[in-house]
Amino acid sequence: MRHSQPIRFPVCPMCNEAVEIKTAKTDHDGKAIHEECYVRSLEAKKKLFLVPPKKQRRIERPA
Ligand SMILES: [Zn+2]
Repeated sequence: MRHSQPIRFPVCPMCNEAVEIKTAKTDHDGKAIHEECYVRSLEAKKKLFLVPPKKQRRIERPA
């Protein structure tokens, strides 16, 4: 009996879960990402631009 190498799945940058190659989508950087997460990331980016300046200021910056 020989050990089989564990299959390494790329990790989705959005949810930190393993991405199955079969179902994976690649983002613009060529990284594997869940299709659902990819869509969500696109929506998140859109929202960033839609956030009014007041709300963006709430992001705390370390001094
Ligand atoms: Zn994901």
